[in-house]
Amino acid sequence: MDQYAVFGNPIKHSKSPFIHTLFANQTAQQLIYSAIEAPIDDFEATLNQFFAGEGKGCNITVPFKEQAFQYAQQLTDRATLAGAVNTLKLTDDGLIIGDNTDGAGLVLDLKNHHVDLKDARILLLGAGGAARGVCGPLLAELPKELVIANRTFSKAEILANRFNDLGNIKACEFADLNGEFDLIINSTSASLSGEVPPISAILIRPETAIYDMMYSAQATAFNDWAKKLGSRLVIDGLGMLVGQAAESFAIWRGLKPSASQVLTELRHNLSN
Ligand code: NDP
Repeated sequence: MDQYAVFGNPIKHSKSPFIHTLFANQTAQQLIYSAIEAPIDDFEATLNQFFAGEGKGCNITVPFKEQAFQYAQQLTDRATLAGAVNTLKLTDDGLIIGDNTDGAGLVLDLKNHHVDLKDARILLLGAGGAARGVCGPLLAELPKELVIANRTFSKAEILANRFNDLGNIKACEFADLNGEFDLIINSTSASLSGEVPPISAILIRPETAIYDMMYSAQATAFNDWAKKLGSRLVIDGLGMLVGQAAESFAIWRGLKPSASQVLTELRHNLSN
């Protein structure tokens, strides 16, 4: 049977096997999807072994997305722009194609929540791998402005320069941010330690949509902070996770599963 997997380290808490197994059931596809912990110093050999067997495609997560970018024999435009790969597909001709579906997953989830991106003023907090993956797809929605702020300012500048040709994007220090935003996306890993990036409350009005890429059973630290400031629309990253998975599944199997049903089950599963 065709095999798919997610490779990461650590990987045991990954939700991907749950999500893809539900997608396969929903679309009547015969496949097996598992989670594989690749040794930190032996990612390439682990992938070689997978594709030499029944492996047809895989997801790649922390810390291997840059190595997967190097591993792919051909890249999609969005993977090239992101400089990172979260999806590999083995074609019938034996070619391994690298793609990045993180940004598409985010945009899909924002649209599902009826967040308008066109002409919006968007603030992206963080300039790590996740931020790099979403800049291109966000700019493709033609926002008025995309501002990137990061603890290490130089990394925000590098990102802004990288995507400069695609739209109105600029880097800013946390302390220099000003004006109100229509959408604020937290792509920092600060919520993992219960912290909130040091931004001013004046950037948020009740209509500002708030998105934390992290997800958990309870509100993340960032979303909790925004809710207390009166934000009406506060979203976590679970929908992005399911959205990027749906996009990967479509790349592999040629049909798009419904993300909403799986998201409901996953949310239920998370809080139990
Ligand atoms: P990286 O390690 O590549 O980047 C981390 C970013 O967070 C950097 O910009 C770093 O700043 C910043 N940061 C870390 N701690 C703090 C802090 N205390 N205060 C302010 N900024 C901080 O991680 P990723 O980009 O891969 O992932 C970021 C988050 O996004 C994670 O929580 C991850 O779980 C989530 N994610 C969710 C996805 C989904 O599908 N929902 C998909 C991918 C990621 P600096 O540069 O200064 O170090």
